Amino acid sequence: MLLDSRGNPAVEAEVQTQKATASAIMPEGASTGSLEAMELRDGGKAFLGKGVKKAIANVNETIAPKLKGLDSGNQKQADKIMLDLDSTSNKSRLGANAILPVSIALCKASAAAQGIQVFEYIGKLAENKESILPVPLMNVINGGKHAGDELAVQEFMLVPLGAGSYSEALQFNVEIYQTLKQIIKDKFGKSAINVGDEGGFAPSISKTEDVLKLMQLALKETGYEKQVRIALDFAANSFHHNEKYIFEGKECNNMQFLEIVEGLIERFNLASVEDPFAEQDWQAFCALTKSKGAKCQIVGDDLLVTSVERIQRALKLSACNSVIIKPNQVGTVTETLKAVQAAKDAGFNFIISHRSGDSEDDFIADLAVGTGALQIKAGAPARSERTAKYNRLLRIEEMLGKKGEYAGKRLLEKFQNE
Ligand code: PEP
Ligand code: MG
Repeated sequence: MLLDSRGNPAVEAEVQTQKATASAIMPEGASTGSLEAMELRDGGKAFLGKGVKKAIANVNETIAPKLKGLDSGNQKQADKIMLDLDSTSNKSRLGANAILPVSIALCKASAAAQGIQVFEYIGKLAENKESILPVPLMNVINGGKHAGDELAVQEFMLVPLGAGSYSEALQFNVEIYQTLKQIIKDKFGKSAINVGDEGGFAPSISKTEDVLKLMQLALKETGYEKQVRIALDFAANSFHHNEKYIFEGKECNNMQFLEIVEGLIERFNLASVEDPFAEQDWQAFCALTKSKGAKCQIVGDDLLVTSVERIQRALKLSACNSVIIKPNQVGTVTETLKAVQAAKDAGFNFIISHRSGDSEDDFIADLAVGTGALQIKAGAPARSERTAKYNRLLRIEEMLGKKGEYAGKRLLEKFQNE
């Protein structure tokens, strides 16, 4: 057992092969979709019920004996064995927090055993031959369930489409983050620059629009107005109750809330809106995709929970045009790669994502490059569990050299073609 970035227990699994050993740490979300794979928590007094002794026992006593002696290069077979052992639709018997860290550790160990990088190994599994460095969607203001402020919207992100390389994108974002810090401090005082779970600031501002204006100011001061756009993750489940959206003191139905979202997209030229509606509100998702989907990413996170079936349903209904990929929403590397393939088949943009409770594990950086993702979400450029992912991408960029293509241009073309 280890601790995650919120101080809660997290399972770390280690896989040993004849040639290599590797480990992986399970992350945990706060704003979760109801259809995510289940993690097992012990309940009781220890760690206020969040202990992971049962999940660890499942790794050691149930999973390990069945995987022992297998060919470590056969990810699919190992994941299938774990799925069969669990035999539930949501991994509630063994726990996704038992299965996923084993699956990821195996993936890392197999890469090491073959003497290749994890992203190269994933590239083989995903049959991806391209070397793309993703656009880092950095979350610079935290609200919703991720911070102790009044903001309903959970994430305010920077989208550095116009950078020439990944490292330049990182530089743009860092400069904007630090400039925003100074702007917030000057306007609201020192306490306003405290940060939330993902390292973004958590000022006592209650209106979405006011934050967006501050971000615009920071873009202007840094001179990146043309190169960097803004994205939001509403995580709307958290302010949707009894069929109503409770937003900034007002109660509205889904079509009234749709107008608010459309207005924000228009006024602030938003590049992307994630979970603007609750996970069951397909009607509003469809209406927004119809009205704004040509110029803005409409992203399903809690809506799609990294599920092939739900991605296919979203395509059929035209409910969105992009999807968040979170390995722990589904529970194995194989299923994660299937969801990526479903997104590619659907023509959806896919965004590889961390969780709000995360760790020093940087696997998702390799997952992004390995799958050819054009975007990654890993929080602010602050706090080591967030920078671990961004720093790993810097190292991958260095390794790839000229071969590594920054995704900004491709993403921009997609926006123009839609
Ligand atoms: C998200 O909603 O996209 C997110 C990263 O938050 P969490 O991990 O709390 O679901
Ligand atoms: Mg989300």
